Amino acid sequence: MAKRKITSFFLPTDNNNNDTNESSDLTVESQKKTKLNPSMKTVKKWEKELNIKLKLVVDEDDHVNQMFCEDCVQFMPDQTSSFVTGCTSIKKESVKYHRDSVIHQRSIDSKAAQEKEKSGAPSSLIKGLMKLDEVQIEKMEKLFRTAFYIAYNAKPFTDFKDCVNFKLTMA
Ligand SMILES: [Zn+2]
Repeated sequence: MAKRKITSFFLPTDNNNNDTNESSDLTVESQKKTKLNPSMKTVKKWEKELNIKLKLVVDEDDHVNQMFCEDCVQFMPDQTSSFVTGCTSIKKESVKYHRDSVIHQRSIDSKAAQEKEKSGAPSSLIKGLMKLDEVQIEKMEKLFRTAFYIAYNAKPFTDFKDCVNFKLTMA
């Protein structure tokens, strides 16, 4: 390509020249773009390093165009942060800055709170204890029914032990 003086870019040129300029400008621009946006692999690495979950919008060349913070999208009450609407400044500093922001911390907090609420459902250990309780309650019910039977029929209380032993072996 022939060298041109820098001033020639600002001066009106004839049509032929204009065409070549336009195409070379386009190549420069697309090269710039690939240089600017890091690959998905790179951004995934940041995710691990900074301990943050990101959703990525990737172009056909595997370069990231937009980043979303998963926790903020889901849990932030104020949905105006760039990491909710889609951050287009694909830099590690942007991710780090967001991770350390008050907004992100708030999302993490409300996520933790919601998860705690969810864990209010009985765990398997609690379920096991509740089952144990059911067995106990059934046993107690039998004992009370026996006690009631003895009292109601004015039987001697010494019968209670025999009745219970009999019923328990039957159960
Ligand atoms: Zn966030």
